[in-house]
Amino acid sequence: MHQKIEEKMIDYLENLAQCGRTANDGVTRRLYDVFWCDAQQMLTTLCKNAGLDVCHDKVGNLFGRRQGSNPLAKSILSGSHLDTVIDGGKLDGIYGVISALIAIEMLYLEYGQPDKTIELIAFAEEESSRFDYGFWGSKSFLELADLREVSALVDDEGISFLEAMEFALKGLDDIGNRSYKEYAAFIEVHIEQGQILEKSQKRIGVVEQIVGLVCYEFLLKGVSNHAGTTRMDERADAMLTYAEIVVSVTAYAKKEGFVLTFGKIKCTPNSSNIIAGEVFATIDMRAPNTQKLAEYAQHVEKIIYTLSKNNNTTATIHKWLNQAAQKFDTTLIETLTLICEKKQIPYKKMPSSAGHDSQIIAPYIPTAMIFVPSIKGISHSPKEATHIKDLVVGVEVLMELLYELAYK
Ligand SMILES: [Zn+2]
Repeated sequence: MHQKIEEKMIDYLENLAQCGRTANDGVTRRLYDVFWCDAQQMLTTLCKNAGLDVCHDKVGNLFGRRQGSNPLAKSILSGSHLDTVIDGGKLDGIYGVISALIAIEMLYLEYGQPDKTIELIAFAEEESSRFDYGFWGSKSFLELADLREVSALVDDEGISFLEAMEFALKGLDDIGNRSYKEYAAFIEVHIEQGQILEKSQKRIGVVEQIVGLVCYEFLLKGVSNHAGTTRMDERADAMLTYAEIVVSVTAYAKKEGFVLTFGKIKCTPNSSNIIAGEVFATIDMRAPNTQKLAEYAQHVEKIIYTLSKNNNTTATIHKWLNQAAQKFDTTLIETLTLICEKKQIPYKKMPSSAGHDSQIIAPYIPTAMIFVPSIKGISHSPKEATHIKDLVVGVEVLMELLYELAYK
């Protein structure tokens, strides 16, 4: 069995990696682009070869169904997203889709028809790598998104969201209807994208929750002036304020143990011999405890205002995202830990610091996530990798869980 799963994993991963392969041996597969369409076709073929009934919903989420014998029971859903970041790896997202496919196939070979229907899902989009909109697949599945929200969006080539969608979906002739209310559980298998499992020498992460996320944009205003004639004590230098904020807030994050990133900066006028009059920048901060995160955020705002004032500059802060931590289903977490203990697989209960489709699904369907280790924690890169034996263990744990949920 182990050998068979390994062969299928290598084969399917390699097939899907061809859909959008880049010069760096990475993958770029963005929502509704030609490579996304290729991947849809590839996956449809693989699902049909495995005997699954395939359909797409109206935004292009793909479903592969193994019908159960009990027509009254709710179905069990497993999968992840089909799209990638630009020049991403071969595992993020698609590994969870392939894991679901292999698990459904192998369970059927071993035990025949399940009692409850098991269904694979490949979400159309999660990464927001083409349009400025994330979780389009899972949000549409839950009826939380609609076309009005995306109708004004264009990609970096000026193609509108709706145009792109029409192009991609016209090739799909199997549009069906799926309601999230049909499902009793959702399981997502995913690479960790961090180093917690590798460093603790565990092979499975049982994810308890997705961390909370607060995002800021802020604008610091000073006075642009001559780099030579303006004395240091006469300046209102927005860049200096920014630098002090970065140092001070980073030290605070380290002391309190949360993660924080200054990822984007725009300086005006951005000239080597002019004092910066304005700095626009962003902060992305994450912590497992929603209450604590709110306290950290408040303190970060205070630091920004205080340092701005000390430097004769002003600050305007805009908190544009405030997402609470999302806990997963405790019964499913318990079942997963029992499976790992029974199979003697070293595991760790852990939070996820990255966002996933599961956090969107969890308030509506009992949800669990299974992590496998990422080598050196690298992800969103062509160097993204996981040892094949760990990829296989992820499938084996998923199989056990699907067996518990759909066969017993
Ligand atoms: Zn992902």
